[in-house]
Amino acid sequence: MRRRDFCAASLIGALALSLAEPAPAQAPRLKAVATFSILGDFVQNVGGDRIELITLVGPGGDAHVYTPSPADARRVADAAIVFVNGLGFEGRMPRLVKASGGSPVVVEASKGIVLRKMEEEGHASDGSHADTQADPHVWQSVANARAMVANIRDAFVAADPAGRTAYEANAAAYDAKLAVLEADVRTTIARIPPERRRIITSHDAFGYFAAAYGVEFLAPQGVSTEAEASAMAVARIIRQIKAQAIPAVFIENISDPRLLARIADETGARIGGTLYSDALSGPADGAGTYIEMMRHNIRELASALAS
Ligand code: ZN
Repeated sequence: MRRRDFCAASLIGALALSLAEPAPAQAPRLKAVATFSILGDFVQNVGGDRIELITLVGPGGDAHVYTPSPADARRVADAAIVFVNGLGFEGRMPRLVKASGGSPVVVEASKGIVLRKMEEEGHASDGSHADTQADPHVWQSVANARAMVANIRDAFVAADPAGRTAYEANAAAYDAKLAVLEADVRTTIARIPPERRRIITSHDAFGYFAAAYGVEFLAPQGVSTEAEASAMAVARIIRQIKAQAIPAVFIENISDPRLLARIADETGARIGGTLYSDALSGPADGAGTYIEMMRHNIRELASALAS
């Protein structure tokens, strides 16, 4: 091709390109709501720049006792898709969706995950039938987090089929990072001597972590922070710490640390640090994403339990 022809051809090419693609398509972004910060992180990773996300219970917030504001009701009514954890985690959420007057698609991110059943306190003493409830803290196992990400991907593809390629690519890229995280969690926990893998936290949020990675967690409060720890439960934990020489108690980012401080005081157990259970930290505090949160937690466990 002669030089002039080449220039003309590239000019025409550039014109054709600019006519066909007037800037990257500014399609309106899909309005999504996530109920709490950890779920919001998953949703943002999968949705990428195709979505506009609002998270209702932000960093450090406790979704168990979340009370929706009128502004939240408007956000839900406005959304095309609402992601919830489900399993009773977001106490008042189902009512909020109904009352909001909108008709968003509601997606239960924990769908299909094998659940851990909890026996609620108090049934054993009178011998009556155990009152079991599913433990909602599924994300504490990375395998479950990956299942949630797959659910989120499928929900976005169904709600916005034009974005299929983007959602699938985003989910695959994020899932690869979660696979690395999961391997690191296993390696880190494996280095802690088995007899020292026993700790106290304030509420029972780490059951899936315990089952997946082999650390025993005991908690004076049940699976929700809604009920106070009973005096009986606290006394039982204190006896257990003494009898089993449990090395450390951990404070949670969403719970009042005073009860744990008192338990540490009475037993001589060390306060091992803060674990993130139900919410991320602010971006500057080292647990602003799910991956950072899990890495923070295993670091704290490893350093408190090492020897
Ligand atoms: Zn919780």
